[in-house]
Amino acid sequence: MSYNPSTGRYQQMEYKRCGASGLKLPRVSLGLWQNFGDYDTPQNCSDILRTAFDNGITHFDLANNYGPPPGSAEENFGRILHADFRDHRDELIISTKAGYTMWDGPYGDWGSKKYLVSSLDQSLKRMKLDYVDIFYHHRPDPDTPLEETMAALNLIVQQGKALYIGISNYKAPEARKAFALLKEMGTPAIIHQPKYSMFERWVEGGLLDLLEQEGVGCIPFSPLAQGLLTDRYLQGIPADSRALKVGDFLTVDSIKPEVIEKVKRLNEIAQQRGQKLAQMALSWILKDSRITSVLIGASKPWQVVDAIQSVTKTNFDKEELVLIDEILAA
Ligand code: NDP
Repeated sequence: MSYNPSTGRYQQMEYKRCGASGLKLPRVSLGLWQNFGDYDTPQNCSDILRTAFDNGITHFDLANNYGPPPGSAEENFGRILHADFRDHRDELIISTKAGYTMWDGPYGDWGSKKYLVSSLDQSLKRMKLDYVDIFYHHRPDPDTPLEETMAALNLIVQQGKALYIGISNYKAPEARKAFALLKEMGTPAIIHQPKYSMFERWVEGGLLDLLEQEGVGCIPFSPLAQGLLTDRYLQGIPADSRALKVGDFLTVDSIKPEVIEKVKRLNEIAQQRGQKLAQMALSWILKDSRITSVLIGASKPWQVVDAIQSVTKTNFDKEELVLIDEILAA
């Protein structure tokens, strides 16, 4: 059935400037790491993307290796993009990345110019796009000179294959060097994509300060700890949950009783605030003014709707924050 986006979509969402750049991002963005591969139902993928766009989510995040199998998320996304969103390309911010293993041999991984340039060409073909809005180096490469990796990102922008540049999974000291190199080349990084959730708070130890100083935006990934920071696992492990899906990123073994105990206590606070736990976990990240957008995943359209509602409730009182810290530290 042909798709006509909701005419009220831009009333549903707040947009925030990404660092010191000219680009604004929705406070909730949607990632296609899981749930958009060849094992997933095309109709559900399309429904999730339509629900997102209808509610003002203009930013979809991909990478060369998303699927499974690697590459399939970009292919499936490309198909839906051209079927449903072809008249709306200029309303969308599409990102992709390279940095993890993508193809065999010495040129399909890490951070060489050879890998980054070829990988983005492949991504553009899979998505049937002329350019992406943001291209990221997905993880730091300890062996390739940072100068080469950053020069490759600069080249990609000069060639018009990406409009903006970002880095992901870089710790503060290496991010600082990368930002300096990119600035010198005239293509400043506009965004950093780190892992950040109530359960994983390393960015608070210097990275967020650096991003603020450098005028670089921040879009945390896995803000729900892949579903752990929701009510999903409170009554056991549902058959349709990520923990039981193909892939070993969230394993049944990692859902330990002590983790569920914390989740139960956090869930009580969320209920007192009139939120679902998933919403509180996102509001908790968005309360920090250094955060541009939270990058969620969703296996069902209603999860996207839940996430959007987190944007309007980012105020926490002091007692709530202290209690949350106590639970997380226990
Ligand atoms: P989340 O932490 O948001 O986890 C998403 C999962 O949480 C969903 O698949 C769903 O699990 C569950 N969930 C979501 N909303 C709800 C809800 N309202 N109630 C109950 N459960 C809910 O993020 P992801 O780990 O999926 O990562 C998000 C994005 O971040 C990726 O798609 C990707 O774009 C990016 N990313 C980047 C990385 C990098 O290295 N740069 C690495 C990893 C991710 P279920 O499937 O069980 O329903």
